[in-house]
Amino acid sequence: MSAKQAVTVLGATGSIGESTLDVLARHREVFEVFAVTANTQLDKLFSICVEHQPRYAVIANTQNAEQLQLLLDKEGLKTEVLAGVKGLVAVSEHKEVDAVMAAIVGAAGLLPTMAAAQAGKKVLLANKEALVMAGALFMQAVAESGATLLPIDSEHNAIFQCLPGGFSGGLAACGIEKILLTGSGGPFRQWPVEDLNSITPEQACAHPNWSMGRKISVDSATMMNKGLELIEACWLFDISPDDIEVVIHPQSVIHSMVQYADGSTLAQMGNPDMRTPIAYGLSWPKRMDAGVKPLDLFDVARLDFERSDEQRFPCLRLAKQAFNQGGTAAATLNAANEVAVEAFLQRQIPFTAISEINERVLNGAEVVNAATLEVVIAADQAARLSAQDLLVEFSL
Ligand code: NAD
Ligand code: MG
Repeated sequence: MSAKQAVTVLGATGSIGESTLDVLARHREVFEVFAVTANTQLDKLFSICVEHQPRYAVIANTQNAEQLQLLLDKEGLKTEVLAGVKGLVAVSEHKEVDAVMAAIVGAAGLLPTMAAAQAGKKVLLANKEALVMAGALFMQAVAESGATLLPIDSEHNAIFQCLPGGFSGGLAACGIEKILLTGSGGPFRQWPVEDLNSITPEQACAHPNWSMGRKISVDSATMMNKGLELIEACWLFDISPDDIEVVIHPQSVIHSMVQYADGSTLAQMGNPDMRTPIAYGLSWPKRMDAGVKPLDLFDVARLDFERSDEQRFPCLRLAKQAFNQGGTAAATLNAANEVAVEAFLQRQIPFTAISEINERVLNGAEVVNAATLEVVIAADQAARLSAQDLLVEFSL
């Protein structure tokens, strides 16, 4: 094994993937890009290979694999192309890999992310949906393999930075009263409720502070993202929804906080740029340059805070319900949401139908013990079918 840390970037063509490659390129003496993966974006994956010269490139869509290999061979690159979920799993658990950036969006990230955890890797977790779906199994895999799990989601990375070093659960024992999970409230926080129905995909994807993939942008607008993050925090830090207060903070300068029994509230602040949590995950417990401008507090000038509005945005309430139900409930909610968000992006249903479909599918599903990945995947599939069936009712 070389002295450099070998990193697999799952979802390399996405928003987090791009930011990760940017940070890695700033520290080529420490890291080498071992593998990069994409779903369908062949040209982008090819350009990434030219720049980073990874050992493997994985294209989830098996039809494109041959074409990519031809392009790489013609360029004289040694990168080997793998395809499908098998390929994604292979580069996640490969014995020469030190760290895996899990940045595939949605349930598609579950198997490779899980493979990295089972293989005892340093897992940099952006793919929150994997943890939401299979939290118990995932945390068990991490514990059994001795993997290092580092949260990349900005809020969870902030909480991780504000917790006492070596924290391994048990808030009270560490003198912690509560976790303050911040969220911008999305672009529609102040819109009249009667106008929410007419929101377009373009409006929903134009997040006021963060530039992100389309799915998480819509999740931020419905507050489902905060719901998924609440579940993510419960698993990561071994806490319950009652330990968490969601705080709407429109400027996205504070990325979350930890409130201690002595009256101290520790916050992690910074410009809203995912390269900060990515760099912290890669270099932890040290720090390194992320290419992010330092925070200019005079420029920020003020920080505002509000309570969250679960009437306007029911998805946060649904996420709490699903976590409290346990078992496969969160996998069901996540899958329904993926179908509903995609239908909204395709202009098949209005914005407000997303939460309605999520609620109907969650309340109609049988919840069973999430004892194996197969059970979780079956719940995911069943919820997708139920959500698909409901689309016609809300059809535009
Ligand atoms: P994105 O849409 O920009 O990128 C998604 C990546 O996943 C792409 O590389 C795509 O090729 C790949 N992908 C999609 N479907 C796939 C499939 N079926 N099989 C294999 N690969 C597939 O998304 P993003 O904004 O980078 O988000 C990635 C993950 O990180 C999500 O889980 C999101 O919730 C999380 N996250 C993102 C941000 C952010 O700022 N973008 C912040 C926090 C957490
Ligand atoms: Mg986040």
